Amino acid sequence: MPKVFVITGPSGVGKGTLIRGLLERVPGLELSVSATTRPPRPRERDGLDYHFMSPEEFEAHVAAGDFVEHASYSGHRYGTLRSELERRLAAGEGVVLEIEIQGARQVRSGMPESLAVFIAPPSREALRARLLGRGTDSAEQVDARLRTAERELEAQREFAHVVVNDRLEQATEELIGIVRAAIDP
Ligand code: 5GP
Repeated sequence: MPKVFVITGPSGVGKGTLIRGLLERVPGLELSVSATTRPPRPRERDGLDYHFMSPEEFEAHVAAGDFVEHASYSGHRYGTLRSELERRLAAGEGVVLEIEIQGARQVRSGMPESLAVFIAPPSREALRARLLGRGTDSAEQVDARLRTAERELEAQREFAHVVVNDRLEQATEELIGIVRAAIDP
C-alpha cells in the first residue's frame, strides 16, 4: 500500500486546491512542506507554506543528502526534505507531495512504491488564464512559467494517473478516488 502520494503537473494547474480537497476528505494524509529559495509571496508563512531558505542553505542540504528529491524551477530551487517525509511516515501518516515533474520523476525512481497523479489543465489557454489570474507573478514570470508548462504537459503520458482539472469538484472526486483505491484496494 503506497504511503507517499505525489501530485504533480504544471504550475498554475490547481494542484494546491485539489490537494486541499483531498486532505479535507481523506483522513490520515498530511502535506509535506517543501524547501525553496523562492522569496515568500504575500501571506505565505515560513514553515507552513514552505521552508524558505537562502541558496547557500539549500545547497548545504543538497550536499548533506537531506533531500529525497530536488529541482530547479523558474530560477529557484525546490526540494522535499527527507526529515519532512520520515517524520510523517513514522507517525503512520500518508504523505502528500505537491511537486513539479523533475522531482516527481526522482521520487518515482527512488520510491517505486509511491503513487503519482498528474494534474492536467483542460487547455493551454486555461492554464495561461490561471497563471495570470493568480496575480502573484509578473508578466515575465508568467511567460517563463508558461514555457516550462508547455514542456511539462508533454510529461503527462509518463504517468498512469492523470486528472484533468476542468471542473474542480469533479477533479477533486477523481483524485480522491485514485488515492482511496490505492489506500484500500
Ligand atoms: P511555486 O513557486 O508556484 O510555489 O512552485 C513552483 C513549482 O514548484 C510548482 O509546480 C510546485 O508544485 C513545485 N514544487 C513545490 N515544492 C516542491 C518540491 O519540494 N520539489 C519539487 N521538485 N517541486 C516543488
